[in-house]
Amino acid sequence: MKKLWNDSLFERLVDDQYRYYLQMQLACMLLGGTGLLMCVINLFTAHWLMAGLTFAFFFVCLLNLLLLRRFKQMRMVNCLIFECSIFALCTYFVITGGADGFSPHWLLILPTCAMTLLGRKRGGVLTGLLFAMLVFFMWVPFGRNLLQYPYGDLYCARFPVVYLVASVIGYGFELSRLLALKQMFKTQDKMRLLSETDRLTGLRNRYWFQERLSRITRKDKEKNGSAAFLLMDIDTFKNINDTYGHKTGDQVLVEVAKELQAAFHKEDLLCRWGGEEFLAYLPSCTAETARNAGQTVCELVRNTKVQDMEGNSIRVTISVGVVVLSASSQVDEAHAFIEADKQLYTAKRNGRDCVSMIVLE
Ligand code: GH3
Ligand code: MG
Ligand code: MG
Repeated sequence: MKKLWNDSLFERLVDDQYRYYLQMQLACMLLGGTGLLMCVINLFTAHWLMAGLTFAFFFVCLLNLLLLRRFKQMRMVNCLIFECSIFALCTYFVITGGADGFSPHWLLILPTCAMTLLGRKRGGVLTGLLFAMLVFFMWVPFGRNLLQYPYGDLYCARFPVVYLVASVIGYGFELSRLLALKQMFKTQDKMRLLSETDRLTGLRNRYWFQERLSRITRKDKEKNGSAAFLLMDIDTFKNINDTYGHKTGDQVLVEVAKELQAAFHKEDLLCRWGGEEFLAYLPSCTAETARNAGQTVCELVRNTKVQDMEGNSIRVTISVGVVVLSASSQVDEAHAFIEADKQLYTAKRNGRDCVSMIVLE
């Protein structure tokens, strides 16, 4: 069965800008459609003025929808058109009572819609302005005199209160939605970091490395020039474990990881490939800089100060296999890795604590 809800759609929906765009379109269609329907009903019931007004509202919604589809960046203008037309229509509803004094009831669904659609702040301002308008016409004697529909005293006393309750509920909903969303993003970030990070050394892991590498396109490679892979493996690490214990072995891994982090640039990709092996990808470097980077790594690790439980210094060294790929090289990452592994093997055979390199055209 076809998947109705895919991840990228979900990601776009929680993106505020996209959600706004979708909701605004939906609101224009719904409100415009309601306007048109009310216009037809008013025509049939011979409420001519109301028919004209609801048609004008439909027209504004249609215009707003067209503007929204044509110019996606006009968020401010869309909002203003939307807010002004809603405010004007609601004021008219309150003054005239609409059809048989029913129309002010539409105001009760507005706070929730306005806050979801326009956000907590803008929606809150519109809701507040509508409340002020209600208070003016229903509670202030001067305003009451301007009313054309003969609302009862009890109605005028209670309606703004009911509206206020609806507003508080709408605000609460929007606030809890935002808080839940914030919490979700926080958890998502934490989960992502956990899934990409090696627990022991704090370096990125193999999964992250492969993900990032897969995002580097052929175009990037051509732009950056030649690139290099450095496969690094701590020498006789099994010996360190056997002699000093696994805990000290872990400490060695942590210290070496720190040195590696210092050896590479921010734009280079570095990860703990597994066990006592580390892998780096240098996106734009010559054969000379790749060799220098390998030698720096050897030097830094050689000078690392690690002590065992009794405070004795442990000698740690690392071997590096380097593969340099020219910009026009057709060699894929999997093949490059096999070559880097071969170079690492050569470095081990050459006595360890050294670099072995190959350039693939
Ligand atoms: P070479 O110089 O040829 O690389 O020899 P080596 O001893 O380093 O290589 P080998 O592959 O024989 O041993 C790697 C050891 O690394 C074996 C494994 O127990 C140890 N190891 C792998 N991951 C960890 C870890 O997270 N912590 C510790 N303490 N040891 C680990
Ligand atoms: Mg190894
Ligand atoms: Mg090793």
